[in-house]
This record gives sequence, C-alpha cells and structure tokens, in this order.
Amino acid sequence: MITRDDAQLMDVLQGGCCFYCGEPAGAKATFDHVVPQAYGGVNEPGNVVLAHRRCNQLKGDRLPTPEEVERFLAQRRGSRLGVWPPVAALKGIGDEDEAWIAVARAIAGLPRG
Ligand SMILES: [Zn+2]
Repeated sequence: MITRDDAQLMDVLQGGCCFYCGEPAGAKATFDHVVPQAYGGVNEPGNVVLAHRRCNQLKGDRLPTPEEVERFLAQRRGSRLGVWPPVAALKGIGDEDEAWIAVARAIAGLPRG
C-alpha cells in the first residue's frame, strides 16, 4: 500500500517529474509498478514510481531497462521508500530472458542464479 506521504516523498525524489519521460508529472501522476503486478510485483513504495498515465500505459507489462533500474536505485538511495529486492535483482541484467528469471527467483526468495 502507498500512503499519501509516500507519494509526496516519491514526487520529491523524482523532482516532480514522470519517471519514464522526465517531463513534469503534475497532480495527475499515476503509480507505475516497476515490476508489473501481473508478474507478482507488489503494491508497495519500493516497487512504485510516479508516471504520467500515458507513460504508465506505454510501459505496460514490461520489466524496467537496466538504465531505469539504475535511475531507480539512485533515486532511492538513503530513502525510507526503499527498493523492493526483486527490482534490485535486475541491476546490470540487460538480457530480457535473464531479467525475467532474476525477478522470478527474487520473488521466490531464492539467491541470484
Ligand atoms: Zn511521462
């Protein structure tokens, strides 16, 4: 669950901008799940960013790119919002198939293979 305080802190960490396109997000920003909920992503601050509705829809059910993972980890460094471990497990993985396996293993609580 994401509280109003969480959302406000997220907005500060993102500099008021959409996580995906970097343009000002405004009050209509939506919660985007970094690891999609369809694939077991949790609805917690450590797996959520603020994004325009359109950017959220465009991202759809894909996993974040390595660049997005890096940006997310950098934004969350030292923040109480934290990073959900399966997102951190994607660090440095460019191959899509490997990324899915890494996420699935992390969600299952297994060490990186
Ligand atoms: Zn956007």
